Amino acid sequence: MKIKEIIYVLEEMAPTAYAEDFDNVGLLVGDQETEASGILVCHDALETIIDEAIAKKCNLVVCFHPILFSGLKKITGKNYVERAVIKAIKNDIAIYAVHTALDNHQEGVNKIFSDALGLINTKILIPKEQFIRKLVTYAPLDNAEIVRNALFAAGAGNIGNYDNCSFSSTGTGTFRGNQNSNPLVGERYELVQTTEVKIEVTYEKHLERKILTALFNSHIYEEVAHEIYNLNNKHQNIGLGMIGELPNPLPEKEFLEFVKDKMQCGGLRHSSFTGNKIKKVAVLGGAGSFAISNAIQAGADAYLTADLKYHQFYEAENKLLLADIGHFESERYTKNYIVEYLRKKILNFAVILSEENSNPVKYL
Ligand SMILES: [Zn+2]
Repeated sequence: MKIKEIIYVLEEMAPTAYAEDFDNVGLLVGDQETEASGILVCHDALETIIDEAIAKKCNLVVCFHPILFSGLKKITGKNYVERAVIKAIKNDIAIYAVHTALDNHQEGVNKIFSDALGLINTKILIPKEQFIRKLVTYAPLDNAEIVRNALFAAGAGNIGNYDNCSFSSTGTGTFRGNQNSNPLVGERYELVQTTEVKIEVTYEKHLERKILTALFNSHIYEEVAHEIYNLNNKHQNIGLGMIGELPNPLPEKEFLEFVKDKMQCGGLRHSSFTGNKIKKVAVLGGAGSFAISNAIQAGADAYLTADLKYHQFYEAENKLLLADIGHFESERYTKNYIVEYLRKKILNFAVILSEENSNPVKYL
């Protein structure tokens, strides 16, 4: 199995198109044409992890955080990033990072976080915008179903828990071919009026090339009339953070102790108690200060995230309980999820969970 085949499987789980623009996801180091010997899954691809990969004969390291984030101008080994990259290259080890491609996924980082707390009725906290497009096309009556099915097979027509979503209406199409045309209906130069079906479907924009290929391959006209629209709808299944409910509300202190236990936190910092019981909980694994207002607006009783600064605790404004549970801790089960996923998808292949604890933060 080549590394690129494993990448294909990884991107079925977390399409790189889901990643944030600022991010650096995908294959960071290595040649995807190389035959893979084993996969080591970790949180941070540090030099010690590369050593572990060498010892365990894994030439692909799948990490959550991209070790290469902002570009490198010199690679001399002067810091931990450069040393990890140099060691990986010297030992023919590829590094693939998932990061926000999985953060934005409805089954990703924040669902894993929510599940660890046993939250129910979860939904995305900040649904992604500018991600959905609409295709409108016109097919002759007896071709319409074939076109619709081809579009569905290419990934169009998925809305929430439904697939095969489309709208069709019947009307009259007109056309007249010039001297170079070869019309399926009528003759060259003839003004044709014919019954056609207008088909409308939505799709995630990164699937566009695949969907247009399906359209052109399934449509029987020489020229396929079609229109593409950008939609302002939010994508309810893609986005950062998650909000859900505890099956049984808890008093604030008890809730924080529960979180500390479930997420194995060395300690946590929180805003003043509001005096309310905690039922609705918003979570965002990693640095999530930007979403405090989203959590308040969504009516959360508590918002769990990491990397909060002193002044940001004031932003709770006594409207919710804000807690910084630690960056690593908030994402700690992600690597286990990736391992389980890969083991399910790639049978009889070494998929190893790193034994290293890459959390750079220690608690006294
Ligand atoms: Zn992170």
